[in-house]
Amino acid sequence: MAVTTTAFATIRPVDCHFFGNPGALSDLPSTLAEMYARPDWMRDGLCHEYPQLDWFNTRQNKLTRVVCSQCLVQGECREYGVADPGLVGMWGGLSDQHRHDERRARRGRRAA
Ligand code: SF4
Repeated sequence: MAVTTTAFATIRPVDCHFFGNPGALSDLPSTLAEMYARPDWMRDGLCHEYPQLDWFNTRQNKLTRVVCSQCLVQGECREYGVADPGLVGMWGGLSDQHRHDERRARRGRRAA
């Protein structure tokens, strides 16, 4: 049980952002499974330095967008966010709507 306590102590708000679900902590078994399965690049995300920002509210996203623009793993994060329509919040500097638009644009390019 001590391991579980330690693992939860390391979960910060921004970690939940990477789970793609603001309510992820209500489903702790799958949250832990996702935490250990997530890609290595997530450890290098600059958002870890800014847990005070709201990474889910993509309507007021100027500050999070600036952080993403300086992030070394922005490309990986953007592709990850675009690839999964179920994710919410800011991913690679793109809001939910911008990722939706990007998926639609890519489908259009493939169909052309
Ligand atoms: S691009 Fe933005 S959301 Fe993605 S890891 Fe970097 S700071 Fe975090």
